Amino acid sequence: MNVTCFDAHTFEKDFLLKAAAGKHEIRFLKLQLTVETVDLAQGADVLLLFVNDEGSAPILEKLHTFGIRYIALRSAGYNHIDLVKAKELGIRVANVPAYSPYAVAEHTVALMLALNRKLTKAHNRIRESNFSLTGLVGFDMNGKTAGIIGTGKIGAIVAKILHGFGCNLLGYDLYPNPSLTEHYGLNYVDMPTLLKESDIITLHTPLLESTKYLINEQAVEMMKQGVMLINTSRGGLVKTSAVLAGLKSGKVGYFGIDVYEEEKGLFFYDRSNQILQDEILAQLMVLPNVLITSHQAFLTDTALRNIAETTFESINCWAEGKESPNELTFNIETSKVLK
Ligand code: NAD
Repeated sequence: MNVTCFDAHTFEKDFLLKAAAGKHEIRFLKLQLTVETVDLAQGADVLLLFVNDEGSAPILEKLHTFGIRYIALRSAGYNHIDLVKAKELGIRVANVPAYSPYAVAEHTVALMLALNRKLTKAHNRIRESNFSLTGLVGFDMNGKTAGIIGTGKIGAIVAKILHGFGCNLLGYDLYPNPSLTEHYGLNYVDMPTLLKESDIITLHTPLLESTKYLINEQAVEMMKQGVMLINTSRGGLVKTSAVLAGLKSGKVGYFGIDVYEEEKGLFFYDRSNQILQDEILAQLMVLPNVLITSHQAFLTDTALRNIAETTFESINCWAEGKESPNELTFNIETSKVLK
């Protein structure tokens, strides 16, 4: 098949080429799929899209007129694709349901530890031969209460790791997982209780209409003084201005993010020669108790290999006229993704 890969990054090309095993023609484009770039898709049978490519209704309609019937997402998240429109048009969309929940969970905990033990500050000091410990006091993770919002694949591994540290675990999920209670003593509670009682709060739900701005002014207000908030899920779960206000007042003691609601066009790119126009991000970047990574939680060799292999598993199925096991099945009446 003719495959066009939008928003192609150097870190993933070799993995994709290896997984394609010479069976498909791949065209790598650095540009993201947008209304402006959609014409570049002409001639493709399949599009490979990443997290910031746009799959809105007008774009899908255009793709349909080009004869494109398959989209393989190089991500687990699919909030950027209008699945109702795709279904209407007969465009089949597959994702990578689980490429490595460990990669994201481990990065989540890396953010917690780096913030807690002030590793970036310590590292920068040492580079200047400043061996002072002033201002580097952290806290024991052992005995702290960690609230996990969304206890699916990633949240469950975060629970396992934090249990290993000796944290008390609270969880909130629409579908509680009793095995987390059994194995790690995770106690399912309602959102307000989790917000009020957690020393550390970490977000692992998908971005949906129902989860947009899950963390807003009211939620911040309910949190413990000095709480640590971590988001490696999707930027839109957090109303960043509300957390920034919380950081300024001292209510939020630490903020670690791998995702940001306005990350599109910034994260993944070298913008070091440009003036940053995003004032909220600019304020966050200079706060000593904020740690930002640019959507790299998934970035391990295991995850990249799994993403590439699952993506080409779907494409190989489609090339043989079969359904891919990774296709997102969507029920138009209930607007729910069935898998
Ligand atoms: P998952 O589907 O296994 O788990 C999501 C959990 O959230 C489920 O248990 C679900 O019941 C729960 N949930 C859904 N809506 C909810 C709501 N309104 N309130 C409470 N709980 C709700 O997904 P996962 O594999 O654990 O991934 C979680 C998210 O992590 C993804 O949706 C994606 O956005 C993000 N992610 C980020 C990166 C990264 O590099 N930063 C990489 C992969 C995934």
